[in-house]
Amino acid sequence: MEASPPANAILAALQWDPAAGSLAYNGVRYLLVRPETVIEFQRAVEAHAGAEAAGELLYAGGFAGGQLSGRRYREEFKLSEAEAVTFMCRMGGEIGWGAFELLRLDLPAGRLEVAVRASPFAQAYARSPDGRPVCHLIRGVLGGLLSGLLARPVRARETGCAAAGAPACRFVVEASS
Ligand SMILES: [Zn+2]
Repeated sequence: MEASPPANAILAALQWDPAAGSLAYNGVRYLLVRPETVIEFQRAVEAHAGAEAAGELLYAGGFAGGQLSGRRYREEFKLSEAEAVTFMCRMGGEIGWGAFELLRLDLPAGRLEVAVRASPFAQAYARSPDGRPVCHLIRGVLGGLLSGLLARPVRARETGCAAAGAPACRFVVEASS
């Protein structure tokens, strides 16, 4: 007998308002977007402003979401800092951002390491032309999450990316001051 998959707490609690055409989880609005939409936007910004600037801009978008969600759900569910990180990693998978695995969280040292298998951004990008990582939105979410929890600036890197041939994308976030 096959084990049934674990329940998806986010999908189970998602509220659809047909009049507004909105989806919300605990009062926070979400939207479903094809990864290709994000990645074509990313490619357009890369062509327009260069890969480095594109990475910074997408990072900023992810950062805002990670910081807001980390704070909101920490308050909503009365989570410790460590529980908030576990919650966000599980939520990442539940909203389709890939299979998140928390590798290391050292709050006193201000360090977070996460691996993400099957990143939809890496899959949509297919192959990074020069080996650079492409999952800037995930990197931003993790940066914003840790920065919000520590109330400190952080530096976030994607040290390996599936779009550059790594078996999984890997992220390291460190407090920067
Ligand atoms: Zn990646």
